[in-house]
Amino acid sequence: MSNPFVERYRVPPGQPVRLADWDPNDKSLFEGDKKEGKQALRRLNERLAELQELLYAEGKHKLLIVLQAMDTAGKDGVIRHVFKGVNPQGVEVANFKVPTPIELAHDYLWRVHQRTPASGQIVIFNRSHYEDVLVVRVKNLVPPERWSRRYHHIVEFERLLAEEGTTILKFYLHIDQEEQKKRLEARRDDPTKQWKFNPGDLEDRKLWPQYMEAYEEAISRTSSEWAPWFIVPANRKWYRNLVISQVIIDTLEGLDMRYPAPKADLSQIVIE
Ligand code: ADP
Repeated sequence: MSNPFVERYRVPPGQPVRLADWDPNDKSLFEGDKKEGKQALRRLNERLAELQELLYAEGKHKLLIVLQAMDTAGKDGVIRHVFKGVNPQGVEVANFKVPTPIELAHDYLWRVHQRTPASGQIVIFNRSHYEDVLVVRVKNLVPPERWSRRYHHIVEFERLLAEEGTTILKFYLHIDQEEQKKRLEARRDDPTKQWKFNPGDLEDRKLWPQYMEAYEEAISRTSSEWAPWFIVPANRKWYRNLVISQVIIDTLEGLDMRYPAPKADLSQIVIE
């Protein structure tokens, strides 16, 4: 029996994507209100912490979570709220910013491959190799003949990771322009948020249609059986967190993990 959250928001391989057809306000899979949604998330946090402990103890599987979104859509919020309570020993966040000169001197997957999870680990990509077909495409940082080849590289790179034991989940946090306007205004006006305000984000906002087109192509061309994309309605933060949490938990439960057997017959061991 598959999970309704997975079914609803997963993009099947090869399916064309029109983001305008995906409602960023959708909250149809949860009956309650925001308060109840937050309570539900607390229970999911506990379950995720148990599953992560098991993943870490078993030391067999690797989980890679990719977060991509327009500014203010909530990548940071997802990291803070969905992963609340997990053991930091087994979880790492990798941020991908404007590449450094040394990164630029290599192929674009070089810096990414180094940060992929080891056995027993969860790694969250806050931005990712997808920037190389998103911002790079929209801002013309390399010519089209270069970025257009990258969908194929990325699909095969993710296949390599999956075949070598990495479970991959990719989330696009879907907000609309109006919601972004509200959140940018809040950042501009709230002294505790102003540190996040980057005037450069306004440039990206002007390029919204171009970004949507780049996201649509990236998502439809790289959603695969082994590395599916999920389009997460993100205008409501609490619902966004619930969806992502549900998908991760369902995926981890599907791995059929077990605590390792004891190293010796413990029934004979007496502790003096
Ligand atoms: P965030 O917005 O993720 O919180 P920053 O404000 O530091 O973090 O933004 C990181 C910036 O790095 C973004 O504007 C993003 O587009 C840019 N970036 C990431 N990867 C690349 C890349 N491969 N090429 C060019 N720019 C990139």
